This record gives sequence, C-alpha cells and structure tokens, in this order.
Amino acid sequence: MCRKILSITANKRNNFLCSVVIWNFLYRNDVMKKNNNKEILKLCPHCGNRAPMIVATSYEHQIIYGDPPYTDEDNFLWSLFVCPNCDKPILDEKFRSSFEMDIDRWPIHEKTLYPYAQVNLRGLPENISKSYEAALKVRHIEHNAFAVLIGRTLEIICKDKNARGNNLFEKLDYLCEQDVIPGRLVEMAHGIRQLRNIGAHADLGEIVEFDIQILTDFTEAILEYIYRAPTRLEILQNRLNTLNKGE
Ligand SMILES: [Zn+2]
Repeated sequence: MCRKILSITANKRNNFLCSVVIWNFLYRNDVMKKNNNKEILKLCPHCGNRAPMIVATSYEHQIIYGDPPYTDEDNFLWSLFVCPNCDKPILDEKFRSSFEMDIDRWPIHEKTLYPYAQVNLRGLPENISKSYEAALKVRHIEHNAFAVLIGRTLEIICKDKNARGNNLFEKLDYLCEQDVIPGRLVEMAHGIRQLRNIGAHADLGEIVEFDIQILTDFTEAILEYIYRAPTRLEILQNRLNTLNKGE
C-alpha cells in the first residue's frame, strides 16, 4: 500500500489523504465505538473472571499533526467497564494512528490502562494466546497454578519455534543457540522454568506474590520480543520507507 501511495502524483496524494481523513472519521465513529452499547466478553484483570461487561462511559481524544490537508492523527477511545463479579473498574484504550499508512490493515490497538501493567493478548498466535489467558485467569487466585500454566505457555512457545530438546531446559538453550531468543531472555525463560517447577512440586516451596510479578514481566518480555515487536518494527519500517521516498 505504501508503494502505491508514493507512485501517485502530489495532487492525487492530496485527494487521497483527504479521503483518508474522511474515511478515518467514519471509521473512528463506526469501528472504534461499535461495541460501546453491547455486552463484551472480557477477562477481568482484578479477579480473573471472564464475564460480559458493558461500557459504563467512554471518551474520545484526537491529536492532529501538521496542517490540512496534509495531516496525520492519533485517535484514542477510552472506555470504562465495571466487572460484575468483583465490582472493580477497568479502563481500556483503543488507539489508532494515520501514521500506520497501510489502510488495508489499519489496525486498532487495544490495551488495558487500569489496572496498570496488565497484559494483553493481541498479536499472539492463537494457541499461545489461549494458554496465556488460561494462566492469567488464575494469577491472583492460585499462585502455584499460575506458575505451572506460565511454564506451559513457555512450552508452547518452544513448540511454535520448533525448538529441539528432551525437556524445557534443552529447548530453551536450543532457541538461544539458534538466535531465536537472545541470551538474557533465555535466562528469564529459565527463571520461569524454575518457578514452574516450584509451583508444580509442593516439596520445593511456594510461589509468592513477588514471583507472580516476575513471571508476568518475564513472560511479557519474551512475548514482546518474539511476537509483538517484529510486527511493530515492520510497521515502523514501512513508515520510514514512505517518509524517505517522499523527500
Ligand atoms: Zn472482576
């Protein structure tokens, strides 16, 4: 799509960008808010319960860059939910930017702003997403089970990346040798593996709240490096190519 944009004349590009703005307006009001009045099945980060929730209130915010008609914009939609199970609030953000010029795939990025530092399942292969979600459901309910299920997620990542080895230890080292995961991340993965073992064997000890945060942070770092960051890097490179060719 970016190459197509660059091949048209400045005037056509102007018209094109105008249509982008109009389309963006419609899209923002239609797609960004399409779920506002519906019940959405959501995983509550507070209690781990998956329940239908409706938007209690929402607010739109827009940042415009440049002068018309050559503008770009960032669009935010913040939505507040209340969990029917634990009565706690959840603040979600939908974000999209015209800097991501690939209209065919102009994505909406969603994440939870509150409770802070909660994870999202976006950008993950389905089997990994399911496994990770299963772990998250018990994160604040059963710490040992969380460690075991995070270890299982790690196993599925190894399988997804065709890791060889007789056990998780060997598979992680294999991925390091193949440069799929850098050394420091493999150290984190081994940390997860050891906590998984503690969670699985009562005679080794107990997983505590401190471990839960470590497990979450390390898993997020691994998922970010392997799955999410490459997608965002591709988007950035497309944008930089567009800018460079437009000079
Ligand atoms: Zn809840």
